[in-house]
Amino acid sequence: MKVASVLGVRPQFVKASVVSRELRKKHEEVLIHTGQHYDYQMNRVFFEQLNIPEPNYHLDIGSGSHGYQTGEMLKKIEEVLVKEKPDIVLTYGDTNSTLAGALAASKLHIKTAHVESGLRSFDRSMPEEINRVLTDHCSNILFCPTANAIENLKTEGIVENVYLTGDVMVDSLLYNRKIAENKSTILNDLGLKSKEYLVATIHRASNTDDEGNLKNIVDAFSELNETIIFPLHPRTEKFLKKYGLYDRLKSSVILTQPLGFLEFIKLMNHARMILTDSGGVQKEAYVLKVPCITLRENTEWVETVYDGWNVLVGTDKEKIVRMVKEFQPLLENHRDRYGNGDASKSIISIIDGLKKHEVNL
Ligand code: UDP
Repeated sequence: MKVASVLGVRPQFVKASVVSRELRKKHEEVLIHTGQHYDYQMNRVFFEQLNIPEPNYHLDIGSGSHGYQTGEMLKKIEEVLVKEKPDIVLTYGDTNSTLAGALAASKLHIKTAHVESGLRSFDRSMPEEINRVLTDHCSNILFCPTANAIENLKTEGIVENVYLTGDVMVDSLLYNRKIAENKSTILNDLGLKSKEYLVATIHRASNTDDEGNLKNIVDAFSELNETIIFPLHPRTEKFLKKYGLYDRLKSSVILTQPLGFLEFIKLMNHARMILTDSGGVQKEAYVLKVPCITLRENTEWVETVYDGWNVLVGTDKEKIVRMVKEFQPLLENHRDRYGNGDASKSIISIIDGLKKHEVNL
């Protein structure tokens, strides 16, 4: 079976690293990199650390408005698919690269499989939510990380070729955690002691592009008397500088460039607490049993909140400060909600089955 995988951003590299390894044992993979993330620390470092094969196609789309990015990707992915004629197109997550890949494939009547299907924040103002919903509705095979994701699809009338596989990001985290412990020197490099610091990541448009929200976050971080390590996403750096907030943030936290995966998961593993608006980081915090404070009003990873290991605080300064002081999840409420590290194996065994029976989807 020939499978074309569409990737473009950091979390997709993390997810694809494990799926690709499993896929290539039996199938041919054509890797299409849209170029949505292109800086070394957001892109190449993941290929190097996670041994992701070199992409067969670099589309070099780069930054731009959502319409520009998605449109350019659609055109260029279509050209590759026409040439390569894959049996299946594999997409991941909720970005413009995901939607463009799924759309290009479905318009060419090529079977499309979506990894991380069925997640919903129920917030249509998030570009990611639009991408998720549309991708699910034009995909033929839906790989869901949780039972809740399957329920979400059912509510929208999607019930065929829906599979519960567990979460591939957890595969990647579990596979790389020990490697990170042995290889990464990040704690020494930054002079940190285990459980004596917090980690923060921010990059959602609703937090970075909105001056008021970004200011509240900077104010909260400045007020906290804590060691906070803050690897800065390029988008966040751009808006902090635009709104004149960069210097104030820099004086109250330890800013770093975006970190490689091994450095970042070691940093998370030893953190006392994580503050984030990232989907993937909320889930990884949960798996690592590190309390998480989410600077959003909603989450698609609802299980983390049900179990009391994640709390949604939005961008309310007082709430952020209070929760950093008070939030204490209970170990007895923690469940293994996202699988045990074999989601990629499940996905590939389903793809194997498709080949054998030539399922007419
Ligand atoms: N990550 C990383 N370095 C960083 C910040 C995050 O390797 O400096 C990893 C993180 O462990 C997770 C993924 O990037 O696997 C999450 O990506 P991001 O927050 O950009 O996207 P989201 O999950 O919100 O879509």
